[in-house]
Amino acid sequence: MSYIPVSSRYQSMKYNRCGKSGLQLSAVSLGLWHNFGHVDQMENSRNILKLAFDSGITHFDLANNYGPPPGSAEENFGNILEKDFGSYRDEIIISTKAGYTMWDGPYGDWGSKKYLISSLDQSLKRMQLDYVDIFYHHRPDPETPLEETMGALDLIVRQGKALYVGISNYRPDDAAKAIKILRELGTPCLIHQPKYSMFERWVENGLLDLLGNEGVGCIPFSPLAQGMLTDKYLHGIPTDSRAARNAFLKESHITPERLTQIQKLNDIAHQRGQRLAHMALAWVLKDSRVTSVLIGASRPEQLTDSLQCLVNTKFSNEELENINEVLSI
Ligand code: NDP
Repeated sequence: MSYIPVSSRYQSMKYNRCGKSGLQLSAVSLGLWHNFGHVDQMENSRNILKLAFDSGITHFDLANNYGPPPGSAEENFGNILEKDFGSYRDEIIISTKAGYTMWDGPYGDWGSKKYLISSLDQSLKRMQLDYVDIFYHHRPDPETPLEETMGALDLIVRQGKALYVGISNYRPDDAAKAIKILRELGTPCLIHQPKYSMFERWVENGLLDLLGNEGVGCIPFSPLAQGMLTDKYLHGIPTDSRAARNAFLKESHITPERLTQIQKLNDIAHQRGQRLAHMALAWVLKDSRVTSVLIGASRPEQLTDSLQCLVNTKFSNEELENINEVLSI
């Protein structure tokens, strides 16, 4: 039977304006880095996407290299979109990126105009789309002039292949330069996608101030530190967890010191009437310069659980101090 979304889906979600743009994003966005490749169960991926849309999530984040194999998350997403969400395209924000290694040779990596234009053309084919809503440069390229990379983003918008553009993993100095070039070209930078969680706080050192002052949105990725900021590793490493299965989060990252922090954060979360995952996401969302948190989920139940973060995103000074104390151990 064809999928019919829940009619009340927009009532349970909060929507935040993205910087000073006209675009609003759901406070929680779903990323397809893991769990949507050809190696994964298509039906599970499909169920996660349906649940997300039913819960008011309107924003789905991809990149050319997501899979594995690279490209397969876009392919699967395109097939699911075509089958289930075809008539809802105008209710959905689709993001993709280029900047990491995608194909062999000098034109399949980094930030040249040649790479970005070709890569987006490939992404559009894989997803069976005419345009994406947001196209990002995925990481700064120390060797390509920033004017060329930003010029490619501007061209992509003028060609109608993306409605908005963003940058990801840019440090404050480079982000400031990129934002300025894009503004001068007449294609404002919509959004920045940095890594940000209780365990990774570099954005507090200049980036959030810059984005706030410039009116650029912010969508932190890996806000659960790939699952470490949940209660799942408190009693060992579950065999079906990312730390057991994946090269990006290793068992060795879950050190005894980390576990002590996780346990103490878990206690603080319980005092707030939350699970650790809820508190970790709420903690990122508490900053008004954060437009949306970009989460992952390996099964629908996790998504349902993580969405509970929206119930309480306010922190007392005492709670923040207690959290800071734990993080400084
Ligand atoms: P998270 O920090 O949200 O980690 C998600 C993982 O944590 C899940 O796959 C699952 O792992 C576990 N998890 C999620 N919810 C729960 C829960 N409620 N309880 C217990 N465990 C849970 O984010 P990701 O690292 O997946 O990144 C999110 C998105 O950010 C990506 O999909 C991508 O779109 C984007 N991203 C962007 C990057 C960039 O360079 N711009 C880099 C990395 C990510 P499991 O069950 O498998 O253990």
